[in-house]
Amino acid sequence: MLPLVALVGRPNVGKSTLFNALTRSRDALVHDQPGVTRDRHYGVCRPEGRRAFAVVDTGGIAGQEEGLAGATARQARAAAEEADLVLFVVDGREGASALDDEILAWLRKAARPTLLVVNKTDGIDVQAALNEFARYGIGEAVAVSSAHRQGIDDLIDETLGRV
Ligand code: GDP
Ligand code: MG
Repeated sequence: MLPLVALVGRPNVGKSTLFNALTRSRDALVHDQPGVTRDRHYGVCRPEGRRAFAVVDTGGIAGQEEGLAGATARQARAAAEEADLVLFVVDGREGASALDDEILAWLRKAARPTLLVVNKTDGIDVQAALNEFARYGIGEAVAVSSAHRQGIDDLIDETLGRV
């Protein structure tokens, strides 16, 4: 069986765009409207010359009104719990939000192995974006631009080093 990697994060940070970049598909629904991915969505990343791994996209936390208790969030938590590694995706442009803090607290409590992925770092100060999340203290973060396929190879290497 392939190792399983779950994409977790609040809506609109680019999880589905990252899923498509990793699996080289256009399967996952990318949308400006938060919470479009309602349930779990599986694909396979087959990087050239390296091991393959399975990826699961999630709808994340479906907005303030639902929070961590909502149905979509339950799906995201279930995906995180069955995964070998969680890619905790955050938005490098918007910086850390209260919802990110909540998700982080949950991942810590659930003791899920986690790699922080700072997305949307195209055209911004990457180091500043990484610094913004340094206080999360979950080790080295990987900066990517899923939309522009930047940093995806490094992310794959980091992922394969942990699964
Ligand atoms: P999800 O809700 O976390 O699955 O986020 P989506 O993948 O649906 O993306 C939400 C929005 O962010 C869309 O408008 C994407 O085009 C945009 N987006 C995703 N990744 C990037 C990126 O790397 N850079 C920029 N600038 N926009 C991105
Ligand atoms: Mg999505």
